[in-house]
Formats: sequence, structure tokens, C-alpha cells
Amino acid sequence: MGNRKSRTRRCSLGPIRRRSTITASLLRWYRRNSRDLPWRGERDPYRILVSEVMLQQTQVGRVLAKYPLFLSRFPSFQKLARAKSSSVIKAWQGMGYNGRAVRLWRLARTLMLDGGGKLPGDTRALQKLPGIGLYTASALACFTFGKQVAVVDTNVSRVLYRLFPASVRRRTVSRNETIRRGDLWDAAASLLPKGRAKQWNQALMDLGSTICTARAPKCGACPVQAHCPSAHQINRTRADQRKREPAREGIPNRIYRGRIVEALRNLNGTSSIGQHQLAVSIKPNYRRGDRKWFRQILVDLERDGLVRLARTTTGLRVSLPD
Ligand code: SF4
Repeated sequence: MGNRKSRTRRCSLGPIRRRSTITASLLRWYRRNSRDLPWRGERDPYRILVSEVMLQQTQVGRVLAKYPLFLSRFPSFQKLARAKSSSVIKAWQGMGYNGRAVRLWRLARTLMLDGGGKLPGDTRALQKLPGIGLYTASALACFTFGKQVAVVDTNVSRVLYRLFPASVRRRTVSRNETIRRGDLWDAAASLLPKGRAKQWNQALMDLGSTICTARAPKCGACPVQAHCPSAHQINRTRADQRKREPAREGIPNRIYRGRIVEALRNLNGTSSIGQHQLAVSIKPNYRRGDRKWFRQILVDLERDGLVRLARTTTGLRVSLPD
């Protein structure tokens, strides 16, 4: 983490006294208001990894329901690696973003083949594993192995931007995503209270998900409002909130992807379905003009390991992978 250290020294978040007050106030709030989440008491790296992957793009409430079910089906890297990818995709039902199930399964297989079924404890080594980026590596290093590293998810980013707009946002006008991300992580690292990284990261996450929310932050209930230049200033328009993502007739492609995987999970008495029949089942007003778009979605799903495409004499047939 040499680069990180040198960048951290350059990152200025204003007077140390203000930072210390913010840190103390937030940790005090966290002691009384921390969310009781099952993975927070976990020590098993596998179980923490599963929770982190699930939480990346799914709301906590849904993860709370699916997490124990998934773990009872696949309680270890070994069991997950031995399963068929189609079983893992089926067990992921209800979580959305099914590509995560395949990435988790691939990671388990890699670890069983090359790593003796064990995760390394260092962020750099973790990031060399398939499907593990900076966020997941840092979360594992901190929450599993007790490393004093920052963990910046969407909630933490938002809180930092709002608390330190003069320091963080001014540096993020660059279009270079690497600089932008590095700056934010440096800001987070420079705030870490000594020996309390785990509590601090979780406090920021909880603040971002319960108080400093994206659309309507509850600044009146915020433990750091007295030190926040953005307090009562957030007024996002609907246009700001609307995500720009590939869509068809106003419905994001990711929704169609989810519908396809769901339709394949629910195939009765057969393992595959014809392309046209599948298209009509996930988009009732499917037309000729949709063919190219639909085909591309299938190709993308195949690339992501979520479906298998078989070219037959009667046309393309689609199934879950083996
Ligand atoms: S005062 Fe408002 S904007 Fe600032 S951190 Fe708290 S909730 Fe977020």
C-alpha cells in the first residue's frame, strides 16, 4: 500500500481538530445505533465474503433473507466449488445481478485449485483473485483479517463527499476515474482512527445507509450535522436521480437480463428453451426489430457465464450453464 500512503499524506481534509470531532461523534453514534447484521459477528472469511458480494448490489433486507439460505446450501468454499454453476445461479434467485453468483463460484474453484481453499489476508493478494476488486479486497482485509484499511462503498463515498466537499469534491472534477477513486480512498484512509478501522468503516456505512441517504438525507438526526457543510443543502432533482443505463422501451437491460435467468430457472420438464419463445416470455410485445438487441443480451449473458447458447438446426436454444 505504498502508493496509498504517499497519496494519503497529500490529502487534506481540513483541520485535524474538526476531523477528530467528526470521528468521535460518529463512533459515539455508532455505539448506540449500529445495525445488528449477522455477518458482523462472523469470523469465517467465506461467510464474510458471501455477505460482501451479496451486499454489493442488493438491499440489506433482501440479503438478510437470502444469506442464511445460501450458506446452508453452500456452507464453504469447498461445497461451492463442487457445485454446478447452474445450482449456484438457482440458489441466487431473488438477489438480482446474477453475474455475482457465477463470479463467486469461479472464485471458490480458483481457491480450491490454487489456494488450498483459503483467502489471503492482504489487499494486494486478494485483488489478484478473480472477481475481487479494491472494495471487496479491502472489506475482507478489514472485516475478516483486522487490517487497518479504509473500505469505501457507495454509502461511504456519499458521506465523504458531503462532509468534505471542499477537499474531496474539488479533487474529483477530473474525468480520470482512477484519480477520482484514488482521491476518495485516500480521504477515507486519512480519517481512519487508530486501531478502530472496523468500527469506523461500519459507522460510515451505517450513517450512509440510514441517515445520509442519497435522496433525502435526515440531516436533523445526523450526529455530525454541526460539522457538515452539506447539512440541509441536498436537494437532488429527479433528473439527477435517474440513472443512465442501457434500456429498451424505458426498462433497463439489467431487468431483461434478470428476467431471462429467472425464466431459465423456472423451466419445467426441459432444460432449454428456443430463443423466440424466451424473448416473448420476457418481453410480451417482442417484435422483429428487437431481435438484434435481444441476441446481444444473450451473447452478453453467455460471456458472463449465466446462460448456455446452443446453435441447433431449428435455431438458437438457451439454457442455464451446466
Ligand atoms: S448532515 Fe446531512 S448531508 Fe451531512 S453527513 Fe449528515 S446526513 Fe449527510
